[in-house]
Amino acid sequence: VTLTPDHTGPSAGGESTAAGEGTDVLSRPLRLVLLGGPGVGKGTQAELLMDRLGMYHLSTGDMFRAIGAKPPETLTPVMQQAIELISGGRLVPDETVIELVRHHLEEQDMGRGILFDGFPRTVPQAEALDRMLEALGAPLDAVLDYELEEEKLIERLSGRRTCLQCGASFHVLNLPPKNEGICDHCGSPLIQRTDDRPATVLVRLQTYHRKTCPLIDFYRGSGRLIPVTADGAPTTIAQRSIEALRRHLGG
Ligand SMILES: [Zn+2]
Repeated sequence: VTLTPDHTGPSAGGESTAAGEGTDVLSRPLRLVLLGGPGVGKGTQAELLMDRLGMYHLSTGDMFRAIGAKPPETLTPVMQQAIELISGGRLVPDETVIELVRHHLEEQDMGRGILFDGFPRTVPQAEALDRMLEALGAPLDAVLDYELEEEKLIERLSGRRTCLQCGASFHVLNLPPKNEGICDHCGSPLIQRTDDRPATVLVRLQTYHRKTCPLIDFYRGSGRLIPVTADGAPTTIAQRSIEALRRHLGG
């Protein structure tokens, strides 16, 4: 692992800084966590921030998918356990997730900074992450928490239409298909997933808030939480995130 400590400027590899912004506080390698419930567009923000800041993106969703795609004989016992739990529809315990993230971190060159997406999900995971990063001399800089009013989230989520054939996603207001109810990519019919019906959406939002509240409190309490309003176009939200980060980090 080659996490670059604070304030040392570009790493020896020379490719660590973003966008040539001179003495910009954001040009050093940053360690960030992204938080946000269903419908806030956290995945899109992760992509945009990664492009803008040039950091490594650790998505635990991608991590689990990658583990699932490995040949079974290459799996470690912890990986095997995680796959069994996930395929059985069960929750992966904190210590297993932490072990997998630790293993994943060891395999990456993170001198350009890192964006955690989907991890941590609980306070014990957050505490473990702090210990891992402290041990590397590269503590967490900030936590971007994407927030949007419930009504807007419901509108956003319940307008979503999905192609069962190719998985493409559309939105009746924000991203309508060329022909109503038909996938632009493969011509199959679009459906509204059960998950995206308004009543289900409300339950998903409430569950998310109940589960995430302690984590939000944990980061707010340690002065690392940056709330970001997830309203508007994705690029606008990304710009808002960048400005909030710059203010928070004192640039
Ligand atoms: Zn399709």
